[in-house]
Amino acid sequence: MDIRALYAQMGISAQVLDFADTVLAGLQERFARIDAVAEFNQAKVTAAMQKNRLAAMHFNLSSGYGYNDDGRDNLERVYADCFHTQAALVRPQITCGTHALALALGANLLPGDELLSPVGAPYDTLEEVIGIRPSIGSLKEYGVSYRQVDLLSDGSFDYENIRRAINDKTKVITIQRSKGYATRPSFSVGQIGELIAFCKQCKPDVICMVDNCYGEFVDTIEPSDVGADMVVGSLIKNPGGGLAPTGGYICGTERCIERCAYRLNAPGLGKEVGANLGLLTAFYQGLFLAPTVVAGALKGAVFAAACYEKLGFRVVPGSKEARNDIIQAVELGSREGMVAFCSGIQAAAPVDSYVTPEPWPMPGYDSDVIMAAGAFVQGSSIELSADGPIRPPYAVYFQGGLTWYHAKLGILMSLEKMHQAGLIELQ
Ligand SMILES: *Cc1c(COP(=O)(O)O)cnc(C)c1O
Repeated sequence: MDIRALYAQMGISAQVLDFADTVLAGLQERFARIDAVAEFNQAKVTAAMQKNRLAAMHFNLSSGYGYNDDGRDNLERVYADCFHTQAALVRPQITCGTHALALALGANLLPGDELLSPVGAPYDTLEEVIGIRPSIGSLKEYGVSYRQVDLLSDGSFDYENIRRAINDKTKVITIQRSKGYATRPSFSVGQIGELIAFCKQCKPDVICMVDNCYGEFVDTIEPSDVGADMVVGSLIKNPGGGLAPTGGYICGTERCIERCAYRLNAPGLGKEVGANLGLLTAFYQGLFLAPTVVAGALKGAVFAAACYEKLGFRVVPGSKEARNDIIQAVELGSREGMVAFCSGIQAAAPVDSYVTPEPWPMPGYDSDVIMAAGAFVQGSSIELSADGPIRPPYAVYFQGGLTWYHAKLGILMSLEKMHQAGLIELQ
């Protein structure tokens, strides 16, 4: 049986396959560039493991206090070397990206200090961390104030107002690399470097933190290569490579990371405590696979953009635009479109493929939300997934795919469902 016959058995029509072949023919150069970045990052990750003499003993389980856990400490040295920082905190006790960000902020901001976001509103969950929306234990409750400078209408940095916003109290500057679920573009590492340089020119001792979620290994350099004092992210996104079942990381200067360790555990107890619970193999191996996994997710995003752009939908970023994260937005223009697209992604999943995603009210949203995911790790968004609020412009946010072939299958299925629903016309 050839691949077309197998796809036919899985319910994908010849029309969809022909359409996909035409689109793919135009993407080979783009894919080659993605592969070149992955090759570089594979070497970078491997070199960091070699430099730190990674060995079988580093996979040993520790329990209880986790004293003398050399596997845990070595993983943090490997992360620090990958991100070219002095130190790192990489732990299963950091429960998610939001926790890692809250930790990095809470550890480095004291009462009377001010936090500045020079890139507009932060990711939804950060609103409660900061206290933009009132919440128990927010930075605001602890007397940390917040200022925000929005981007200019063309998406660029408003340097004039950033200069004005930086004052005696400004202690930490938070920069979000990925657009997340906003409509602004995601920033390149180069752009972030320019912004950090500008902020440090205004105030040399200010701490610059980058929310690196969804951005790791998309480029050959990271924000820590261009002056960030801390880079922060989730292990169930890019750097966990799909294998890490939980966790978060912060890489940065010795001073910042030491504070984070005391904040995570307790004053007096820093990095020395924290059992690894047998997760180290997954963390190391996930990091080792992450460059290839991210490349697969990027190819999926480019392929989705090219298919839906050709069908006349607005996609962000465009199929030919540079990419700074793994998220692809597709504006489907209708509720039916979102449901069909997400059914396709769900039908392609290795887990829970038989369920039908339905729009549903969600806390914190003023409209119903639809989500498609069938992942080995609950909530993992480096695995193939799509979601979005049911409201104009009816955009789905598509991300992940542990392999390019699986991401491709998901997009083929989405096209099939859209076609069956009469929402697209394939020439
Ligand atoms: C996912 C994400 C977060 C939060 O991470 P969680 O693991 O969902 O808590 C923060 N910032 C950005 C840009 C993200 O994409």
